[in-house]
Amino acid sequence: MTGLSDDTKTLTMMAAVKDQPQKGFSWVKKTISTDLADHEVLIKVITASFCGTDTHIYDYNPWAQKRLRLPLTVGHEFAGEIIKVGKKVSMVHVGDHISAESHIICGECEFCKRGEGHVCENTKIIGVDTDGCFARYLKIPEQNCFINSTKVDPLFLSVQEPLGNAVHTVTHFPVKDKTVVIVGCGPIGIMGADVAKALGAKKVIAIELNEYRRNLVAKIGVDVVINPLTEDVVKRVLEETGGKGADVVCEFSGSKTAIETLFHYVKLGGCVAMLGLPSKNIELDFSNDIIFRGISIYGVVGRRFPENWYTIKELVESGKLHLKDIITHVLPLKDINRAGEIMSSGNSGKIVLIPGDEIDE
Ligand SMILES: [Zn+2]
Ligand SMILES: [Zn+2]
Repeated sequence: MTGLSDDTKTLTMMAAVKDQPQKGFSWVKKTISTDLADHEVLIKVITASFCGTDTHIYDYNPWAQKRLRLPLTVGHEFAGEIIKVGKKVSMVHVGDHISAESHIICGECEFCKRGEGHVCENTKIIGVDTDGCFARYLKIPEQNCFINSTKVDPLFLSVQEPLGNAVHTVTHFPVKDKTVVIVGCGPIGIMGADVAKALGAKKVIAIELNEYRRNLVAKIGVDVVINPLTEDVVKRVLEETGGKGADVVCEFSGSKTAIETLFHYVKLGGCVAMLGLPSKNIELDFSNDIIFRGISIYGVVGRRFPENWYTIKELVESGKLHLKDIITHVLPLKDINRAGEIMSSGNSGKIVLIPGDEIDE
C-alpha cells in the first residue's frame, strides 16, 4: 500500500475496544477519519503485541478503572506502515515502516527540554490515554515514529517497545563482563536476560516462580535459572558469584519478597535497576543494605528516546536475540480475549496479534 487517495475521508475497520467496565474487550466495527493534525501520521498496523498493561486493561483492575476513559481502542506495541501524513510532517514519509515509542511527551516541560522526556510530566500513553493499535489503523504524532528496516520479520518489529523497557533496565548500568541477575521472567524479564547476554554479560542468572517461564528463559541460553520456591536464592547467587554477589540486579517481578531479598545478594558497590511495580510497600534496612554497602538504585520508566530505540534497532537487526523463542503465540487480532486469557495464565512469552482487513457484519 502506498498512501491513501485524497478522496478517502474515512476508513472502516475492526478494533479491540474497552467499552464496558468489566473484564474483556469488545471486537467492534469502527470508522476512523483520515483527517490529521499538522504533525500527525496515519498508520496501517501490520503486527501488534500484547503488553502486561493490556492484561490490566483486560482484567479492568483498580489501576485501569481509575486511569481509563471508556470507550478506548487499546494496544500500544506495534509495527506498521505510514499511509498518510499531516501537513507539517517532516521526519517521516508515506510508505515508511515504523514502530512507535508509546509515550507521547509534551516537548515543553523542564524534563523534555533537558532530554529526560521519559519522565515528562505531561506524558500520554498510546492505547491508554489515546486510541491504540489493536485495530487496522491508528494515528500518532510523527515524533513518536521510529523507522524500521523492512528486512526484519514484522513479528520481531512488533515487540520493540517492550524490548525497549528491557534495554532501558539492562543498559542503565554497564553489564558487559558483569554478573547480572534477572528477577522475574515475564516477557520483559526474558527479553532483559536476552539483552544482557547479547551485550556481553559474563554470567546471567534468572529467577522465576513459573515453570513455563523458567523453561523459556533456560531455552534462550541464560547461565543459571533459579526457582525461588525450592531454592535459597541468596545462597545460590552467592555460590554462583564466588561469594561476592551480583554486579547488577534487574528487577522485573514487582514482588515484595523478591525485592527485599535482592539486597542480600547484590555485590558491595553494586547496582539495582527496578522496573517491576510492587503493589505493596517494601521494607528495607536502608542503613545496612543500601547506604553502607554503596548500592545504586535506578527506577526505570518507559524508554529513553531516542537512544534506547537505537540500541533496540541494533539488537533486533543483529539477530543476536531469541525473539523467535520469546514470541510464544501468534494470533489473529480478533482473538484478543484469548490473548488476555493466555497472558493472565502466566504460561506465555510475548503474544503477537495480526490484524486483517475483514469487517465482521
Ligand atoms: Zn507495553
Ligand atoms: Zn514534557
